[in-house]
Amino acid sequence: MPSARVITLTPSVEFDAALVRKLNQMGPRYTSYPTADRFDGGFGAAQYRAAVAGVDPAIPLSLYVHIPFCASLCYYCGCNKIITQDRHKAVEYLGYLYREIALQGEVLGGGRRVDQLHFGGGTPTYLSDRQMDELLATLRGQFAFAPDEQGEFSIEVDPRTVTPARIATLRRQGFNRISLGIQDFDPAVQQAVNRIQSYEETMEVLQAARDCGFRSISVDLIYGLPLQSVASFGPTLDKIVAARPDRIAIYNYAHMPQLFKSQRLINSVDLPDAETKLAMLGLCIERLTAAGYVYIGMDHFALPEDDLARSQREGKLQRNFQGYSTHADAPMVALGVSAISAVGASYSQNEKILSAYYERLDRGELPIARGIVLSADDLLRRAVIGQLMCDFELDYASLPLPDGVAAADYFADALERLKPLEEQGLLCIGSKGLRVKMRGRLLIRNICMAFDSYLHAPPVEGPQPARYSRTI
Ligand code: SF4
Repeated sequence: MPSARVITLTPSVEFDAALVRKLNQMGPRYTSYPTADRFDGGFGAAQYRAAVAGVDPAIPLSLYVHIPFCASLCYYCGCNKIITQDRHKAVEYLGYLYREIALQGEVLGGGRRVDQLHFGGGTPTYLSDRQMDELLATLRGQFAFAPDEQGEFSIEVDPRTVTPARIATLRRQGFNRISLGIQDFDPAVQQAVNRIQSYEETMEVLQAARDCGFRSISVDLIYGLPLQSVASFGPTLDKIVAARPDRIAIYNYAHMPQLFKSQRLINSVDLPDAETKLAMLGLCIERLTAAGYVYIGMDHFALPEDDLARSQREGKLQRNFQGYSTHADAPMVALGVSAISAVGASYSQNEKILSAYYERLDRGELPIARGIVLSADDLLRRAVIGQLMCDFELDYASLPLPDGVAAADYFADALERLKPLEEQGLLCIGSKGLRVKMRGRLLIRNICMAFDSYLHAPPVEGPQPARYSRTI
């Protein structure tokens, strides 16, 4: 029987530019293991139903709702979204979403408790107040939501699409956490990525969220965008630190125009070079940690009293498709086009193309296009990667290893791959587990990749697509 995870965490990080420069490589972000590129079309509704049947119905759910529409295109975007000004498209979409909610209600059983809800996109606030009311009422008709003080109900908000009054409405509608997309306050950068959003309007929205009692306010920034430099990004960081959101996510812009068509609109000569990006990352870490933020891991910072930082200290932090979470061990049921569910020992993804999503629902089917049933080995490696990502430690005693098998034997290949990283000071390999050092935390993906059996499987013949971004 695996014992509970016991960790000792000093919430910080060490930036070693030379080490990052040397070890920076392509790698998955591990919002799931196996990663989504391993899902296959042989998985469908029958496999999903089997996965649901294997989960205790008393366990509260986490729901994700995907609203794919945006009114305008941000050139850096790599999300699954539909740019349209035609609001009728949202009316049609909601009609289909309601069918999916009803089908999921049948599969899961009525009245399942929901402790966590996340609205993502796209732009969830593309919906009008009335549409949002209707959607939430439909969800409440199928699921039993936890009371406000116990549940985490979050929404991604594009500040350009809302007023302070709309923020107050969202709070009344039941959301208690908010995430604001900012990226950069520099007008030249905003122009270069086609996302014009003034500092004043963003601060107005942030203040409104605080005034009407959102429990956690999170902001997203991006470094590596066109025309950014260390000098230009400093003022954005200063403004963010002064606003003191509870959480800050700083993503590394991955320029992959071969995968994301919208990125072809970015003038590549305007992109900062690798050294500038590295210096920007160093600046972010320096400014945010000096301002009292804790480095949670993988682009995320939080104030020490925020739930994420607290969960990490207590060894309860989890990782899911939205990044880090305090409830990610709950079965995640994802609704909407392209959304990915994680139920029991399975992942399943809905159709990515809107017309295909609609066709499935027209036939009365769950719109699942692909997925994967996790093997015992997948589950074990998922536990390892999740622990490393969240705790920066791995406690062998907590792992569901086969009876009589020692972790050092089971993971002999991975430990061999980790030796050069240990020699470079990223981690310590002990008899009871691993401990990632402060200077290894930024390179946690490199460490996790050692355990990814798919990355180390014999190569399939033919050219391999560029699937992953750089680890930094
Ligand atoms: S970054 Fe967000 S708002 Fe911009 S196009 Fe992508 S999904 Fe839409």
